[in-house]
Amino acid sequence: KIALFWFRRDLRLQDNAGLYHALKSGLPVLPLFIFDRNILDDLDDREDARVAFLHERVGHLKSALEEGYGSSMLVRYGYPEEVWKALLDEYEVGQVYTNRDYEPYAKKRDGSVAQLVEDAGAGFHHFKDHVIFEAEEVQKKAGGTYTVFTPYSRTWKSKLKERMSSFQTEDGDQEAVSYYLKPYPTLKYAKAFATAAPLPMPSLSDMGFAPSAIEIPSATVSRKLIKHYDQTRDIPSINGTSRLGIHFRFGTISIRQKAWRASKLNETFLNELIWRDFYAQILDENPHVANRSFREAYDHIEWRNDETEFKKWCEGKTGYPIVDAGMRELNQTGYMHNRVRMITASFLTKHLLIDWRWGEAYFAKKLLDYDLASNNGGWQWAAGSGTDAAPYFRVFNPTAQQQKFDKEYKYIKQWVPEFGTSRYPKPIVDHKIARERCLETYKAALG
Ligand code: FAD
Repeated sequence: KIALFWFRRDLRLQDNAGLYHALKSGLPVLPLFIFDRNILDDLDDREDARVAFLHERVGHLKSALEEGYGSSMLVRYGYPEEVWKALLDEYEVGQVYTNRDYEPYAKKRDGSVAQLVEDAGAGFHHFKDHVIFEAEEVQKKAGGTYTVFTPYSRTWKSKLKERMSSFQTEDGDQEAVSYYLKPYPTLKYAKAFATAAPLPMPSLSDMGFAPSAIEIPSATVSRKLIKHYDQTRDIPSINGTSRLGIHFRFGTISIRQKAWRASKLNETFLNELIWRDFYAQILDENPHVANRSFREAYDHIEWRNDETEFKKWCEGKTGYPIVDAGMRELNQTGYMHNRVRMITASFLTKHLLIDWRWGEAYFAKKLLDYDLASNNGGWQWAAGSGTDAAPYFRVFNPTAQQQKFDKEYKYIKQWVPEFGTSRYPKPIVDHKIARERCLETYKAALG
């Protein structure tokens, strides 16, 4: 019998909870990755940079397993339930290990796969790896999960202090912190699944995709950047944030290692990682947010949903330069600075009165670091419909935001070269009129 370890959003060999437990089982461990057609079939861009990155990382893991450990990795392309049916026929599977995913689709998929595995007489085991704390670990004193960030983050931090003592550091190596007690089994010492020849892997083109011209940010970030993060994070014209989003998304770095480091270096940075846990637990506990407002009353807003205006917003042609710069940065690089994400999202929902779900879906298509929980949390925050939203009558003024965060137009000039010339469009709406219209519309819905 063998143990299968199913990689998903945890594409690393170090400090990987589910893999650790698979190796501890004593069975030979065969790692597995499935390129999931339920997800891939829905992508319209056949040069999607995230798919190319995923393919590259899976290939890298597979070679690391082959070259370093005499092991290999099964890589399949298909619909997970069908792939699993075939695998359970092909191999003598004793146990299956994986890490938990909190998205509604993933939970449903894992439920069906667990059933198949159990029906075949094997065990299905899943572990926390993607977040520091899950919903039931950070609860209010009176019980129940938090829906407001500040008290949540206070409890989260006190928990981290307790847990910190069980984090292990490799002798003197701050990067090699691990959640697990030593000695922990590694692929070197535990039984890896040995194959006579490397197993095949589908190419990008086999799956109907091609390489992308978009560059993926590095998985390493300097100590200096994290140290000064609180001073640099709000200025979109400089590289003042980590750009680690895509690596957290796919688990190519460990959240435990980064949180541990952040707790030593910069509390503001740690706070951002807490937002990530916060939104993951909100989605896990309230799956309805994936397509409806967290606060039900906000589903009654009469959105204008003007398609021409939406197109202008997508293309960065609204005549509000900070909004346009953000959208163009997103279209060209797959990234948008957090401050500008807030401004563009607020502009779409409040100035243009376009349903936050339209904006959310556009970001989902374009962002390298796209993550359902954080994207949805960010959009619902901007629309005012979310957990921890500012009152709806606080409408961002894009011009005031620009004066505060891009006073010298450095960011704007980088992305909107025609700004200040006659080629640059006039504002699509007047701020004052749009603000009044927004307040009236929200008031009508919310009473
Ligand atoms: P840094 O500022 O260096 O922060 C480090 C890490 O902390 C990030 O990589 C991310 O994992 C986490 N983080 C930071 N801010 C937040 C936050 N507000 N909420 C949750 N996690 C956070 N983040 C995503 O990871 N995926 C998304 O799809 C996403 N969509 C967003 C949509 C909107 C409308 C808004 C307002 C925010 C969104 N965010 C999203 C949050 C945030 O903008 C990005 O995480 C951040 O800009 C990524 O850049 P960075 O890696 O340089 O972040």
